[in-house]
Amino acid sequence: MKVELTDLTKKFDDLVAVNGVSLTVKDGEFLTLVGPSGCGKSTILRCVTGLEVPTSGRILFDGKDVTDQQPQERGIAMVFQNYALYPHMTARRNMSFALEDESLSKAEIESRISETAEMLGIGDHLDQIPEELSGGQKQRVALGRSLVRNPDIILMDEPLSNLDAKLRIELRAELQKIHQELETTTVYVTHDQEEAMTMSDRIVVLNDGEIQQVSSPEAAYNRPENRFVADFIGSPG
Ligand code: ADP
Ligand code: MG
Repeated sequence: MKVELTDLTKKFDDLVAVNGVSLTVKDGEFLTLVGPSGCGKSTILRCVTGLEVPTSGRILFDGKDVTDQQPQERGIAMVFQNYALYPHMTARRNMSFALEDESLSKAEIESRISETAEMLGIGDHLDQIPEELSGGQKQRVALGRSLVRNPDIILMDEPLSNLDAKLRIELRAELQKIHQELETTTVYVTHDQEEAMTMSDRIVVLNDGEIQQVSSPEAAYNRPENRFVADFIGSPG
């Protein structure tokens, strides 16, 4: 599904968190919003999900204006860095819980969960509760909880930032693989330029609520359009 933002602005009182952002995410694309802390990345994602109401500007999915729709009407899955699983429920139950509102048969729920768990490599852990799982396994369950709903669009806000370096690199590759398998439109958020550079079809470099550059990672690296992009992409973290 294609996602378009037109002249999106979000203010919190006097603070302009997002300032006139216009952007098209192509159907099936892996697009990453990257920029320093406070540049407006999460606010943009929250506007796309409907968790924040934009001050002005519109949001369109496949040409349809969803700006006034409630989050649950939008067919989106969101994955956060704090993966808040229910501690007393098994991995399976944490995943099936997300499907309760949908009118699916028991068999359909079971097959979606086992397929998703297989894909994520947690097929053998479905009967365990979160405290029995490693950090990486918990993040996979959280991801599974989003994916079982077959979302048209998946939004991820720094999903790897609480994990150690080794696991982060491992999961990067997995997230890309999943994206390719599902052909879902993915909007990814990170402050880590290396993560953005290695995972994305295109990146959107943001500073202070404004777009600095939209391009392939290579073009941002080789042909930065301004000083900010050159400094941010060129230097580590
Ligand atoms: P990022 O995700 O890039 O770190 P955010 O989108 O979280 O940035 O925040 C952008 C700016 O908006 C920051 O200055 C932040 O403090 C501010 N902000 C975000 N959410 C709120 C809110 N609910 N109330 C007031 N200010 C907010
Ligand atoms: Mg953020």
